[in-house]
Amino acid sequence: MCSGRVDLPHVFRAFSNGVDGVFIGGCHLGECNYITHGNFHALNMTLLAKRLMERIGLNPGRLRIEFMSAGEGIVFADVTNDFVKEIKELGPLGEMEGINGDELRTRLDGITKMVPYIKIMKNEKLGTPLQNLDEKDTLFTAEEIDRLFSEMISYYIDPEKCQACMTCARRCPVGAIISAKNQIHIIEQDKCIRCGSCLEACPTKFGAVTKLSPGESVPPPPPEDQRAVVRKGKKADDS
Ligand code: SF4
Ligand code: SF4
Repeated sequence: MCSGRVDLPHVFRAFSNGVDGVFIGGCHLGECNYITHGNFHALNMTLLAKRLMERIGLNPGRLRIEFMSAGEGIVFADVTNDFVKEIKELGPLGEMEGINGDELRTRLDGITKMVPYIKIMKNEKLGTPLQNLDEKDTLFTAEEIDRLFSEMISYYIDPEKCQACMTCARRCPVGAIISAKNQIHIIEQDKCIRCGSCLEACPTKFGAVTKLSPGESVPPPPPEDQRAVVRKGKKADDS
């Protein structure tokens, strides 16, 4: 019921489902009934979503947030009509942007997959109410979003050090670690949201998780038949 509940995945899911425009209606800023001020969260989320849309080549005008009270039916009708008119002028999603259907799906899937990482990195800004609304266009900049992707770090489990204690796999919030008893653990890079929990969780005495710098390539995992952990004083088939 609160606009603050609308999150990045909702917006991208709507576009993935083929809608041409997304409209978010929230209460007037500063007039939230609760201390949460969810409408400010919705505003920040929308500003970030627009930048992400630009990054994948979509017109950010396809996403709009407006603030009004439940008693302002005429305002609601006016802004809705105006938005519908604008979206009709833009045409079907992807068409005016020159992106074909398959490519559009790939780009939307790609950005949706990155949402948890984006939210971790932008968590503070997303949750800080804007004091000066004149700054809304500069809250997130295109350069900042480019940096977010170009400076993306990766995590890697060193097969020589992993002792298959399974702690990291239990702590991973998205099940991105291939885990089996007595098997070297592997991070599935396309599922990893780069939260760093595995690095924190791996016992110091093993120190098997490494944080790789942006641009550093992740070494390929050992082949499946070479993943048995060899513990000190033991052979692989003893385990
Ligand atoms: S950084 Fe580690 S814990 Fe976090 S998502 Fe990636 S594999 Fe899982
Ligand atoms: S916590 Fe460390 S040693 Fe344990 S399974 Fe994960 S990477 Fe391997």
